[in-house]
Amino acid sequence: MKLNIGIIKGDGIGPEIVTEAVKVLDRVAEKYGHICEYTELLLGGASIDVHGVPLTDDTIRKAKSCDAVLMGSIGGDAKTSPWYQLEPSKRPEAGLLKIRKSLNLFANLRPAVLYDELKGACPLKESITKGGFDMMIMRELTGGLYFGERRTVEENGIMTAYDSLTYNEVEIRRIAKRAFDIALKRRKKVTSVDKANVLDSSRLWRKVVDEVAKDYPEVELSHMLVDNCAMQLVRDPGQFDVILTENMFGDILSDEASMVTGSIGMLASASLNETKFGLYEPSGGSAPDIAGKGIANPIATILSAALMLRFSFDLDAEADAVEAAVEKVLKEGYRTIDIMSEGRQQVGTAQMGDLISSYI
Ligand code: NAD
Repeated sequence: MKLNIGIIKGDGIGPEIVTEAVKVLDRVAEKYGHICEYTELLLGGASIDVHGVPLTDDTIRKAKSCDAVLMGSIGGDAKTSPWYQLEPSKRPEAGLLKIRKSLNLFANLRPAVLYDELKGACPLKESITKGGFDMMIMRELTGGLYFGERRTVEENGIMTAYDSLTYNEVEIRRIAKRAFDIALKRRKKVTSVDKANVLDSSRLWRKVVDEVAKDYPEVELSHMLVDNCAMQLVRDPGQFDVILTENMFGDILSDEASMVTGSIGMLASASLNETKFGLYEPSGGSAPDIAGKGIANPIATILSAALMLRFSFDLDAEADAVEAAVEKVLKEGYRTIDIMSEGRQQVGTAQMGDLISSYI
């Protein structure tokens, strides 16, 4: 099979971690008889440096012509990077929001899994994590507060800022369907998270999710308020299978869920549209504090490549092989610095990529 993959290396540790994921993809292609064709695309700071803007129309056009895009992270240190002297609409993050919107990537999937071998890195008590946890956070990605109208004005001498949070039923229905479809392949449980005791947008969210649930009688649906969910994630994370939520709540909760797994460097993510196309990237940022040192953990990006094989190319055996190789490397005691613990062997970014490739 020919895999036509767009590659966005991005900023900070992006180029280092993407290089390792490509190494693993090349090994998969060699082993399973596929051909990977890569198209390099610029986004974020790397695009500002070349084109003066974080995303060009040409990049959007090229991304659309790929079957899927694998991305490192974008952005720099907000205090020191010249990118943050630019107005907000020209900064690296604006490119990310624009590409999500342009490619209509409305469904963001973030698995949060506690690996047996990394239980020691989990900040929660053993009594809480002994059963392990494996949840999928499904975050709506192209609506809500981050895409609503905003403005800052001076009213009667007082600066006032407005952000608006809007959802329509079509936006809610399509993400809810995706969440139920994914739950069917997992433990058949959806927890829909909202703030329906306060927000109109949440009350509509709840109503539409209830309607969609009627088409999925095998899936158990419950609703949870976002503040309670934030508590439950650290009190009893094992209770969750699929968490379905809107954009901002999902942004915050998925970071919390990734923290309780022990390392953000381990967590993959996929952003999907209505077709097989997806943008795959690690959950973490560009980690400017460790960029260029060869110590970043490439596993989240490698696992994102596995999600790409599964969701965009339906190559389940290949995706399983990548995930099994990651588990094997961890079982054998190899660790990057962020997940290092006593008695394990510390390796750098490239060595971790080599080890995982060698186990495919
Ligand atoms: P961050 O995730 O980059 O870093 C937080 C901490 O986690 C740092 O200590 C970092 O060293 C560590 N870390 C992150 N990924 C790691 C990895 N793979 N291996 C080892 N350690 C890792 O978050 P931040 O510092 O808040 O943001 C830095 C930049 O990244 C900002 O410009 C921000 O806007 C951007 N960002 C981009 C994305 C994205 O591209 N989707 C997401 C979040 C943040």
